Amino acid sequence: MERCTARVRILGGILLLLLASGLLAQDKIVQVTAGALNVRTGPSTGYAKLGLVYSGQRYVSVQRSGSWHKIWFNRGTGWVHGGYVSEVSGSAKKVTASLLNVRRGPSTGYSVAGQAANNSRWVEVGASGSWRKIYYGGATRWMHGSYLANAGGSTAPPSSPPTTGGLPTSSAGFVQLPASGQGFYAYSSSSRHWGTPAMVYGMMNAASAWKSQNPSYPRISIGDISKTNGGYFPPHVSHRYGKDVDYRPVSKSSYEGPLTIWQSNYSSYRNRRWITEYAKKYLNIKVIGFQDSAIYNSLWYVQNWSGHHNHHHLRIH
Ligand SMILES: [Zn+2]
Repeated sequence: MERCTARVRILGGILLLLLASGLLAQDKIVQVTAGALNVRTGPSTGYAKLGLVYSGQRYVSVQRSGSWHKIWFNRGTGWVHGGYVSEVSGSAKKVTASLLNVRRGPSTGYSVAGQAANNSRWVEVGASGSWRKIYYGGATRWMHGSYLANAGGSTAPPSSPPTTGGLPTSSAGFVQLPASGQGFYAYSSSSRHWGTPAMVYGMMNAASAWKSQNPSYPRISIGDISKTNGGYFPPHVSHRYGKDVDYRPVSKSSYEGPLTIWQSNYSSYRNRRWITEYAKKYLNIKVIGFQDSAIYNSLWYVQNWSGHHNHHHLRIH
């Protein structure tokens, strides 16, 4: 009896120490290595998708099940396959408020993107004044540091922003498309190429697959997305939220310059392939404005928008 009680006390003491240290023994910081990675409600591909996380983003893994990691994802947790993340050192924070607003930028002037639960854990990847930059729900977000406590982590100094897939990031959480990469190049100026991670990485991944599977095809010529933090972007009416992109029609040769659907070098076949096999696979398409009637008459998400004979306008959800 006496010994049992002592054992319970010792175990209880160890548990208290672990809780006090914030980072529980199984907590790990993981960094996404895939371009875009599904987050699911449970530890197998049979579970429903909750959303996506993107290359270079860091989350706290609080549990393992087989090869799967349970991470804090948004207001709750989700599961990602361990084959597409790597464990890294860094500094984890835990939320001390009962429910903490997560904002799109480092002040209360930015809109609320979601909430983080009490005792949820996040990886600090930057700071601005009292605000801490973290990844939440697949996007760069901000939490006020007054409601965060250290949750341990490795003894390494606070991590710098990730370099893997580490595109420049704006305060609105947009990332900047590089001037060129596998399967694409940008034809408008770099200040016009900011978009949500889902948009930018989606286009990059689609273009990469396009070129690697069709080496003789032209690259995707990408034009305007949004300004650094979005907002009014003349001459466009839209392109305000990092979720619209213009790109040129694809030619039937390797030509990558300006092209209309009426020119002999235009390929309806290749443009359909791009849309159905690549863009649709990597981007959560809301609508594409494009005036090839063979395409808009047969794909429900393509619409006949005037002026869109020399580019596609693709909008994601
Ligand atoms: Zn457009």
